[in-house]
Amino acid sequence: MADDPQEDSQQSTGNEISDTVRLPVGLEIEGTRYRNVTVDEMSGIDDHNIAGKKAGNNGAKGVTLILIRCIQEVEGHLPRKQNPDKMFDRSLARKLTVVDRDFLLSKIFQLGGDTEALMAGQCPRCEAVWEEEVLFSELEVVEWPEDEKTEISFELPVGLKVTEKGVTKIHTKGIMRFPTGKDQELAGELGDNAAVVFDAMFSACITSLGDLEQVNREAIRRLKSRDRRYLSQILQEALPGLRQWKIVKCSCGKNFDINVDLTAFFGGRRSTEKKY
Ligand SMILES: [Zn+2]
Repeated sequence: MADDPQEDSQQSTGNEISDTVRLPVGLEIEGTRYRNVTVDEMSGIDDHNIAGKKAGNNGAKGVTLILIRCIQEVEGHLPRKQNPDKMFDRSLARKLTVVDRDFLLSKIFQLGGDTEALMAGQCPRCEAVWEEEVLFSELEVVEWPEDEKTEISFELPVGLKVTEKGVTKIHTKGIMRFPTGKDQELAGELGDNAAVVFDAMFSACITSLGDLEQVNREAIRRLKSRDRRYLSQILQEALPGLRQWKIVKCSCGKNFDINVDLTAFFGGRRSTEKKY
């Protein structure tokens, strides 16, 4: 109870609201993680920013622009802005993990009065579409322990077979760092090809695999489907932060995941703006 500061920390100056929240992971700078961040609700400035040229069609860049405007303070690292409309440098939001970015975004939406999120998904067997409204406040938030490194160890079920100088080795054990805003922006540049995005994301985040010297996109591309599925799954399950997914059972008997799509929020805003 004592470690739930969110409830009591809302401050208002006139009708404006800001909130100090504790990041699930924290902004990591030279080994220190800064976890207390103050955010403002969105304004027309943000709507213009995400609809403008700087964001293009890249949702992740849109998120970066919202964050560097709405974040008002990073306790211990960046003092409170004098002018709330000013933007921090983009590198701030690019360094944040995707986990913290999504968490902050949900807080910013909540300050603006968006209390519900839509969870949606499609049954891979019968193609039935599932939609369910959930309250942001009901989504569980998992925090990464203070004294643990921000990485995930894994062991591939199949492994990557590499033959060098006549010796064949199978590399299975690896370590992955958490994806950041920078990774997300880069992935956003690659278009809709999920396989290409997957290769780019995992080759950037996997810091070691067996005794390979380098884990490049080619290495990830050569992984068997079972290993690729496994990697997606551990990323979803092992990452801390807002639990944005859950498993539902379809009427056809198949279990599958439904997910919150946070970018749907500003997709909606964007189309609202266009009407006027
Ligand atoms: Zn089904």
